[in-house]
Amino acid sequence: MTARVLVVDDILANVRLLEAKLAAEYFDVVTAMNGVDALEAVQRTKPDIVLLDVMMPGIDGIEVCRRLKGNPATQHIPVVMVTALDQPEDRVRGLEAGADDFLTKPVNDVSLFCRVKSLVRLKMLTDELRTRTGNDPLRLVSGELPSVDSQPGRVLVIDNRVAVAERIKGALAGKHDVTVAIEPQVALDSCGHSDSAFELIIVNLDMEGVDALRICSQLKSLEQTRQTPILIIVDPDDHQRLLRALDMGVNDYLIRPIDKQELQARVATQIRRYRYTEQLRTSVRASIEMAVTDALTGLYNRRYLETHLAHLIEHAVNRGKALSVLTLDVDFFKAVNDSHGHDAGDRVLQEIAGRIRSSIRNIDLACRTGGEEFVVVLPATDIATAERVGERIRKTVASKPFNAAPDCLLNITASVGISALSNVDEGVEELLKRADKALYRAKREGRNRVILSAA
Ligand code: GH3
Ligand code: MG
Ligand code: MG
Repeated sequence: MTARVLVVDDILANVRLLEAKLAAEYFDVVTAMNGVDALEAVQRTKPDIVLLDVMMPGIDGIEVCRRLKGNPATQHIPVVMVTALDQPEDRVRGLEAGADDFLTKPVNDVSLFCRVKSLVRLKMLTDELRTRTGNDPLRLVSGELPSVDSQPGRVLVIDNRVAVAERIKGALAGKHDVTVAIEPQVALDSCGHSDSAFELIIVNLDMEGVDALRICSQLKSLEQTRQTPILIIVDPDDHQRLLRALDMGVNDYLIRPIDKQELQARVATQIRRYRYTEQLRTSVRASIEMAVTDALTGLYNRRYLETHLAHLIEHAVNRGKALSVLTLDVDFFKAVNDSHGHDAGDRVLQEIAGRIRSSIRNIDLACRTGGEEFVVVLPATDIATAERVGERIRKTVASKPFNAAPDCLLNITASVGISALSNVDEGVEELLKRADKALYRAKREGRNRVILSAA
């Protein structure tokens, strides 16, 4: 992972130490030694994460954090407060100032990389979303960050010691909906079926009589929980199993005794990251759909037809299967627009799409290729069968009037041309061209009919 880290500390030795550790892991490190320089470095270098010492002369770390989080242009940059072990109140102040997480000095490598990577991934997701949605950063920051945090998180705690689990639940109460599972196997089974997915699973790594690492690995492989972040709770001397858990994809950890603020901060970060990932997935799915479908009818568009038909032809040729293509053009459609308006015309096109869809199989590919022109690809279908499909579509269009507008029933017909893959080496273009030629003949010969192309 390459990311830019800003390290801020007024003691040079501390800066150098963190710088060396991070640089060894190929992070791009920028440093500052006081609050003013830190704020300036953020503006100038646009880091992906800031590691911020609390105690500094002048503007201290808490104040730097408050300013970064109060500025819409820098609000989205994760801030980790680096606090002294004996100053627990610094953590509370840091979190109140908007810090995303904290590390305790002396900073150990496992916690440093675990937290930095986790927050950098979150930041990259928000960046990705921002570029995808094409929004300006200010609007996105003010518009989307709060919405990500506004709902309580759905958290599952797996721990067979009721008292411990209940204490965790208590610490998160009010902010999140927490379900406690004291039977790990039952929890796993119910995760496998549950519809309302959990957004975070907290697993106690040393449950009595249970292999908690196995539970984690099962959670990471179950379809329903594969994407769900896992936060584990470990004993301070359980270093070996902690490393194994992180290797296996566990997202974060807490060391016993559990610090309430730390728990709350980690839970919030993981849930936020999960929600951003989900948003991103949804937006990717939506943009893929947008690229291949026609907005008016929901059928595939011409671009998709052309690429996909090429694959279908290749597939048919390789397996010696038949394939037919049907083109359809609405008759006298211009008159519908002229007499009843463009909206009525649109309604007719949507209804045509619906009638085509209801006349074909799932494996057939229906597309709107232009204004009132449609193409249907029929895999594994010879021309005689395609003719029957064409007739079926022609009839469903002609047999029942279209509800083009309130109190406006219109009789519509369509002409259809059909071509089938012949023995000759034919590509997308030739196949569609032959179907079009047949369609024009259908028009010339009086419309509302199906004409086959001679091979
Ligand atoms: P023919 O029987 O020869 O096909 O006659 P036609 O009137 O259907 O053919 P023509 O190609 O002359 O007219 C097609 C019309 O379709 C012209 C155009 O205004 C209209 N059109 C194209 N795209 C859309 C659209 O998205 N919505 C609506 N409502 N009309 C459209
Ligand atoms: Mg037409
Ligand atoms: Mg036309």
